[in-house]
Amino acid sequence: MPTYTFEELKRSQTFKLKCACGKRFQRTIAETQTVNPFNKNQDGTVKTRTEVWQSVGEKLREAIDRFTPTCPAGHPADDVTIVSQWGSFQ
Ligand SMILES: [Zn+2]
Repeated sequence: MPTYTFEELKRSQTFKLKCACGKRFQRTIAETQTVNPFNKNQDGTVKTRTEVWQSVGEKLREAIDRFTPTCPAGHPADDVTIVSQWGSFQ
């Protein structure tokens, strides 16, 4: 049996956050998918590397939309603001 190695595509976004209590912290959201013959489009065709990259971006966008970071000291997400963010999500 030959061994196949599938390329894994990862995109992530890191957020520098600040709570109203003054605490500063960081969170990273990441999504990965591999380029492989089983990763298909809805029409049944195998996803190209570019299509996989786009899919990972869509998943990451959904994860960012759901992202409600809470303070490590227990304060709710309403108290937390994003100071800056960076990553491969554009
Ligand atoms: Zn806090």
